[in-house]
Amino acid sequence: MGDCEEIYPRLSTVYGPVESWRLGRSLGVDLLFVNSICSFRCVYCQLGKINVHTDKRSEFVPTRQVIADLHKSDWRSADVVTFSGSGEPTLAKNLGEAIRAARAITGKEVVVLTNAAHLNDEEVVADLSLADRVFCKLDASDETSFRRINRPVEGITLESVVEGIKNFRKTYDGFLAIQSMYRPYSETQFESLCEILRDIGPDEVQINTPTRAIPRAWFIEARGNYEETPYPAVTPRKVSPEDVASMVERLAERTALNVVSR
Ligand code: SF4
Repeated sequence: MGDCEEIYPRLSTVYGPVESWRLGRSLGVDLLFVNSICSFRCVYCQLGKINVHTDKRSEFVPTRQVIADLHKSDWRSADVVTFSGSGEPTLAKNLGEAIRAARAITGKEVVVLTNAAHLNDEEVVADLSLADRVFCKLDASDETSFRRINRPVEGITLESVVEGIKNFRKTYDGFLAIQSMYRPYSETQFESLCEILRDIGPDEVQINTPTRAIPRAWFIEARGNYEETPYPAVTPRKVSPEDVASMVERLAERTALNVVSR
């Protein structure tokens, strides 16, 4: 891939700060930047479309560009620096280097939002271990639902994701959260979810609900809190707050974990 300065001369790898219900004012760092790149294609993905569906790690944006963009950004008004952006941040080979740079420049807490599909890779684990908080996605408790909702590249299974998170939990001494998109579960699926969560033992479980329209194509502003999309978009089905509250209560009761929702 070419240098991002040539591709997007006026855009930055750093965006926001954007308001986040979990993090306050969050300054985003986008190490994917040159395209939407992910090993999943979640049905609810706010990026609209994942153009590069891959599990291969690569350097998409040079760290020197991220450092220059951080210096130019409004980092002082942010509460945290969050690595998320235009896809799956652990696919960026320079994640560890960029985390170190972000902390050195801003002195802020560093958070990584990941789909948790690559935690069986030692280099990914080493990079993520540098973050203060890691939020791992987990939207399903059976392989069929996992494939239907997250649509991973071939070879990634729910079992491999869960094993990766459990192993990461054993060595990681930062704050580990599981992020799960709300959906109705059958009794059996709910029991399996509780069992998986108990086995992982995260510091927190966050139940998300879809809030923004899902565009039909990728545009770079989709990495932040966009209001309008330049493409036709699908409005996500409304989720009742009572249903979410009930799931939070049941999960907390069955797992004895700290469960929160928007
Ligand atoms: S893991 Fe995140 S970036 Fe990747 S498809 Fe799912 S929601 Fe989109």
